[in-house]
Amino acid sequence: MPQAQLQYLTDELNKLREQGLYQKLRVLEGEQLPVARFDGREVINLSSNNYLGLATHPKLKQRALDAIHKLGVGSGAVRTIAGTMSIHMELEDKIARFKHAEASVVFQSGFTANAGTVAAIIGHDDVIVSDELNHASIIDGCRLSKAEIRRFPHKDVEACEKVLKGLAGYKGHKLLITDGVFSMDGDIAPLPDLVRLSEEYGCIMMIDDAHASGVLGRNGRGTVDHFGLHGKVDIQVGTLSKAIGSLGGYICSTRDTIEFLYHRGRPFLFSTSHPPSVAASCLAAFQLLEEEPQLIERLWTNTRFFKAGLIKLGFNTGASETPITPIMVGDAALAHEFSRELFQAGVFAQGIGYPTVPVGKARVRTIVTATHTTDQLSQALEVLERVAKALRILN
Ligand SMILES: *Cc1c(COP(=O)(O)O)cnc(C)c1O
Repeated sequence: MPQAQLQYLTDELNKLREQGLYQKLRVLEGEQLPVARFDGREVINLSSNNYLGLATHPKLKQRALDAIHKLGVGSGAVRTIAGTMSIHMELEDKIARFKHAEASVVFQSGFTANAGTVAAIIGHDDVIVSDELNHASIIDGCRLSKAEIRRFPHKDVEACEKVLKGLAGYKGHKLLITDGVFSMDGDIAPLPDLVRLSEEYGCIMMIDDAHASGVLGRNGRGTVDHFGLHGKVDIQVGTLSKAIGSLGGYICSTRDTIEFLYHRGRPFLFSTSHPPSVAASCLAAFQLLEEEPQLIERLWTNTRFFKAGLIKLGFNTGASETPITPIMVGDAALAHEFSRELFQAGVFAQGIGYPTVPVGKARVRTIVTATHTTDQLSQALEVLERVAKALRILN
């Protein structure tokens, strides 16, 4: 009986229910808009990564439709067999030029780009030096690589240097890896210092710019551009699933590194490439970033407005410096209750607890986009204040 063999999973779920940590999937009915319908309720949407509103942008839709008409709905093979279409190559050229990199390769997602690349370029004789809050896809890549993993406390450059000093004489390759913008805290990596350390200690420097692409730097070129570090970071990762509005992840690096990934990046080798419509909408998105930088300005105007509002109300927004602004709550059950009550009151902001963030650091995470109006953001602030007071999160 499969039921008997799987009973332990039901037990685990029941434990989550008892602890108030059980989470039902919210279902979006319609498009990913700043005010959207989830589970039959119209809410101000502070939970998407659709930073620039490109997921529903008419130009991206049109390009996707054109690609479907001309090229079909699927690629029919993995990249290394028959699934490399000219539109895939066109997108990779576009990304490489946009990021001022020699070459680029697109993976099915940001997750597979990270996990597939780290596992491909690093092996069991090597060592990875990793910020403790790096994204799960980096952590999985590190584990898959079988390398020794040395974590350093979040953004702690001195501690990172201490780890690197302790590796003097180490024979293998050293990978120093960090998120550019941390997805749960919205703070920015100390990239200039990390780059300096990577040069001093002979590391491969790799940065995951999932939340910085389309958000930071000129035209949304990411943290490397934000800090003026072009040519100093060996491997840049970006996602096509957040500000770019569609789906995918990419690696920018030297031509040979990219060609190496063609041969050793397991998700690239063993999982089918994107439908041409995905590549087409991404191409349109990069064009928009170059032609309409005012979208990014709008994102930052909204970010400043909303963050200032939260701080004025007395919320603890942690170390956030970007459109991702957590409201720190501490207890996970309380964070989830806060999120549920907000939803009932018309604001969708996701509650986040362990294991996504450390125990005791649960929060409700807010993300504003370029497409929110000031009115919508003011209304969200009012609801946040009211609900937080009722739950005694605010006095
Ligand atoms: C979202 C995210 C990813 C994964 O990107 P997908 O394209 O959604 O798979 C990777 N790294 C970071 C830091 C992220 O926030």
